[in-house]
Order: sequence, then structure tokens, then C-alpha cells
Amino acid sequence: MNKEQYIKAVELLNLYSYHYYVLDDPITTDEVYDKLYHEVLEYEEHHVEDILPSSPTQRVGDTVSEGFLKAPHLSRMWSLEDVFDSDGLQKWLIKTYKLDKNITFYCEPKYDGASLNLIYEDGKLSQGITRGDGSVGELITQNVKTIRSIPLTIEHKERIEIRGEVVLYKDEFERINQERAAKGEAVFANPRNAAAGSLRQLDSAITASRNLVFLTYGVGENRLEHKLLSEKMEYIYSLGFKKPPLRATCKDFDEIQAVYEEMNKNRDSYAMMLDGMVIKVNEIAAQIDMGYTVKNPRFSVAYKFPAVEKITTLKEIVLQVGRTGAVTPVAIVEPTNIDGVIVERATLHNFDEIDRKDIRINDKVIILRSGDVIPKIIKVLTHDRDGSEEKFERPTTCPVCGSELLDEGVLLKCQNLKCEARVINSIIYFASKPCLNIDGLGVKIVEALFESGFVKSVIDLFDLTLEKLLTLEGFKEKKAQNLLDSLEAAKGCDYRRFVNSLGIEHIGEVASKTLSARFGSSFVDASKDELVALDGFGEEMAESVLEFVRVNRETILKLQEILRPLEPLQREEAKENPFKGKSVVLTGSMSESRDVIKEMLEALGAKVVSSVSKKTDFVIYGEDAGSKYDKAVALGVAVLSEQEMREKIEQA
Ligand code: NAD
Repeated sequence: MNKEQYIKAVELLNLYSYHYYVLDDPITTDEVYDKLYHEVLEYEEHHVEDILPSSPTQRVGDTVSEGFLKAPHLSRMWSLEDVFDSDGLQKWLIKTYKLDKNITFYCEPKYDGASLNLIYEDGKLSQGITRGDGSVGELITQNVKTIRSIPLTIEHKERIEIRGEVVLYKDEFERINQERAAKGEAVFANPRNAAAGSLRQLDSAITASRNLVFLTYGVGENRLEHKLLSEKMEYIYSLGFKKPPLRATCKDFDEIQAVYEEMNKNRDSYAMMLDGMVIKVNEIAAQIDMGYTVKNPRFSVAYKFPAVEKITTLKEIVLQVGRTGAVTPVAIVEPTNIDGVIVERATLHNFDEIDRKDIRINDKVIILRSGDVIPKIIKVLTHDRDGSEEKFERPTTCPVCGSELLDEGVLLKCQNLKCEARVINSIIYFASKPCLNIDGLGVKIVEALFESGFVKSVIDLFDLTLEKLLTLEGFKEKKAQNLLDSLEAAKGCDYRRFVNSLGIEHIGEVASKTLSARFGSSFVDASKDELVALDGFGEEMAESVLEFVRVNRETILKLQEILRPLEPLQREEAKENPFKGKSVVLTGSMSESRDVIKEMLEALGAKVVSSVSKKTDFVIYGEDAGSKYDKAVALGVAVLSEQEMREKIEQA
């Protein structure tokens, strides 16, 4: 890098930072930013005389935006030096040991969100301030008060600054984005930007609706006298702040590396996004001696995890037709390795989103893949266009059957009930686990059955015979017999499974259960008023059931005749037990599938529901329990581990 390139690089970093910190809408990945940042840093190490005051290495990154009052921090907020591999960690340790040989380390997650400083005076939350430029930030106390994991009062009367990161849990991020996509609103790029944007809303009601979570990682001004950071943090957690999913004290490189590897391995299972692990010198006296550079504490480093966002090229947009006829666009991208997984397809949500983001074929895009979240295109790098990009034409006909599509704005729909894609997908859905759980009806086989002409609807499945199946490629006697046996085994299923398998729009597992519990097979004759009166039902769901029955009454009755689903029994009165008549929520992974546990509790007369509210009696948690657990604690709902639940059942 020469001087001219250096100046350009600083300008570019500042442009990236403006989009990232001020607009909460980045125009490149952290990986690209970090690489350029380190090139700038290296140039500056060798050309101290050229360092520009505007260089991002000379200041904490955020800028204070207009719209909020500004407020000073009592003591400065800092950024963090970062390292990206074990070599970097080694170098950092050597450098740090030179300052003090007798040190140990405290390791905790590096949360990917927005920094926040909380000032408590006389045990009361008095101010919430964003990091801003490190000295002065935006005063957002009203918004901060809507975050339930932030205690409004604490049992600590001296003035203290509590520091942490405001994040959006991954499931909440998905929920908000799905809701926004369905309403035709712009979706958020990633949980970090969504959290930062939600925190800095001028209307606190919007912040409140986003279920943000505060995770503390330290203190600013304080008069605590702990000698070790690990002790200080335990004290802070004891004041009512959330603990990290993993924390550890380490003696040396090997121990730090082991914790890092464990945290990285488990990162997908944590409720929040992590972008690394932070290592801090544990001895407070040594921290004070080491002090700060212009930007970072010398006693701390961020050991970054492999990036989950990458830049790639959009090659093609293909269309998928679901069982309800909804046509969704899927992006085919230049295969890209994201944290060890080759990503080739990504969701684009819907056609509005393509228009809104002006996504074109051949565009350079940022793709995000984090854990079990479906890879998604979160950004188009419009400034990288070279003219070869092509606009994507919104389709007017079904890509599978060619019939005209119904354009509902956000959604495009194929209305042909006989459309091959609709039929195949509805059969796959019919056979899926939460429906009739028929083994041996995967995509390939259903396609083969359809193409053979033997199966044009779910009803035809039950006319299959050994002779018919043996004419199909890949079917030998055993496989064919197994499929026939699975179909036979589906007969006599629970009524709720039967209702669910019909695939009525807006009627999922829970609604199917409600519907069958109330009406059983007479649900086909339920009136609108009766449907709307059901727990959890609204106009739209009621209309959907009525419309489905109107069009498919014959099919429903015929299927019913074939399958003979069991009418919901008035469950035998369950014996007295602590769960009888109680509303229970399950969260986290348990020793058995959650469905099994759910059925067990239901047999005891419990009502197992999916979301936590004040009315919930128990939240039963397994490993890696996420936001439902936190919500229960915040609402004062009783929480039980799986073990405790089993003990209670046994005692009863
Ligand atoms: P940083 O995010 O790398 O580290 C400092 C911040 O980490 C702290 O202020 C704090 O808020 C947070 N943090 C989370 N967990 C922590 C913990 N346990 N202990 C201490 N702090 C913790 O630094 P930064 O200055 O905010 O930003 C630099 C980073 O932002 C870069 O690494 C880059 O990846 C990203 N960035 C990206 C773009 C872009 O365009 N994509 C632009 C600018 C910056």
C-alpha cells in the first residue's frame, strides 16, 4: 500500500462505517472491512507520520446521529483489538505478557449487537446511552426502559456504569423478518443491524415491540473492589443481569484456545449471534497498569469467529411452487464456503423484496448463513455493478404448469389445483412428520408416483398396490411392501393429524388440534361464528377453513372414509398431578423429542402451548434454552428443568 492507496482506503473505511453505524445498513461484509482495516493499520505502523486523524484506527467507530439528545459517558467506552487465528492470539499473548507476566484470562462471548452504557444512580436506572464516539453517545433512556432484561432498579446504591450489548435473538430476528416480509415491508439484513436499528428508534413503542435483549460484558465507572474481573462479573450478574451462555477463566494459550473452539463449535446453538470470543486479563490491577491505546484496552482482545457473511455473485433466480400454490423466488449463487458449508442457494423472501432491493442477475451480493437459519441474500452491492447485470422479470405464469398466476402483490400464486408442483408438495406435506408421518414418501418417490400416473392426488395413494409399485424403477418387493405398510399404518390416526395433513392455509399444527378437539369430524359443518370463537382463531383463519371445506368437501369426506381418523376422545380424566390443567411451554433440547414430551404432558392433562405469557404456569427447559426461558424468568413464570419435571411426575 502506498500513501495514495492509504488515503483512499481510509476514505472507503469511513464510508463503510457511515453505512454500518449511522444508517444501520452496511454496504460490505465485516470480513472485507476488517481486511482493509488491517492493511491500513499495517501501513500506519510503518508510516507514523502519515496517519490521518480521520483514520478509523484513531477513533471508536460510531458517529452520533441527529434526532437524539447527546449525553457523555462517565468513563470512556472503547473498541477492541481483534485477532483472527491462533497465530494472532499467540502474538497478542506475547505482547501482553511483556506488560505483565503474572496474569490469567477471563473469556466470554463477543456478542454481535449494539453497545450500550447504562448508568445507575442510587440503585435506579437513570440513563441509557449508546457508545457513540466513545465519549459522547445518544441518550436513549426511554427505549432502554422497554428492554425487559435491563433491571430498572438494582441492589447497588453507588453510582455505576454497566456496559453490555443489545442483541436480537436469532428466532426473534426470523419472526420479525417473516412478519415484515408478509406485510410487504423491507426485511432487516442481520440480527446486529436489526438490533442497532431497533434500539435507536425515535418511537419507543417500536423498540418495545422488538424483544431486544441486553447482555452485559463489563462496567465503566464503579467503586467495586473485586481483585478479579471474573468475580466482578459474577457480582454484576447477581444484580439481575443475564449471564453469558459460556464463560471461563484460563491460564494460558491452550486453555484459551480450547474455550474458543468450544464456543465456536456451539455458536449456532446459542440464542444470540456471536462474532467471536473476548479475552480479558482477569487481574484488575494488571488491567489498570496496562491501560489503553487511542482506541482499545491493552488488556483485552476479540478473537473473531469465521465469518458468516460472504460476498458472492447471484447467478440465477429460480421459482418454486409450494403446496398452496405460492410461488417463491430462490437465488442460485456462485458456490461459496461459509464457515465450512458450501452455500449455493439462498432465500429471497418474495418478489417485493427483489424489487425493493433492486436485485439483478449477476449482481454481487452479501449472503448470510448462520446456523440453522436458511441462507439469505441480505444486500446487493450496487456500487460494484459493471453493466452486465440483468433485471429479473416478475413472472406472470406458473413455471411448472404454465397457468396464469394470481398477483397478490407480495405473493404470486398458481391457482391450478392440479399443478404438478402443488400436488407433489401437498403429498409430501401430507406424509410429513407432523401430519400422517408416512415413511417412504420422499420427494423423488412422490415425483415418480406422480409421473407414473398412479398418484394424482393424496387419495390415489391409497389405491396403490404391489403390482403398480413394482412397475416403477427402483421398487423391489421389500421397498414396495414397506410403503404399503406405512400407508396402512396411517389409518386410524389422531383426528388432529388428519386435519393438519389437509394443508389448509393458515391452519398449522396448533390450530388443527384446536379445530379437531372442538369439532372432530363435524368441523366441515362449523359456522364462521363458531370458528372465530375458537382459541387463537381470527377472521382470516376462519375464512380459510370455510373456503377449503367449500372447495374440498368431497375429498375430505372420502379421505376420512379411507383413513378413519380417531375422533378426539374426551380424554379420560387425568389423575391429580402438578401439570393437570396447567399451561406449559417447552424450550431447549431435551432427552427425547419435544413431541414425545408434549404428548406425555398432554396425557397428564396439561395444555402445551408455544409461547410464554403471564398466563403460562410452567416453562420446562432442556439444554441451550433460549428466549422462552428468559421471558419466563422476566415474567416470573415458574421454570423447571426436564429432570425436575420428571421428578414431579414420579412423585405424583
Ligand atoms: P468491535 O465490534 O470489533 O468490538 C468492540 C465492541 O464489541 C464493544 O464496543 C462492544 O460493544 C462489543 N462487545 C461484544 N461483546 C463484548 C465483550 N464480551 N466484551 C467487550 N466488548 C464486547 O468494534 P467496533 O469498533 O464496534 O467495530 C469494529 C467492527 O465492526 C469491525 O470488526 C467490523 O467487523 C465491523 N464493521 C463493519 C463494517 C461494515 O461495513 N461491514 C463497518 C464498520 C465496522
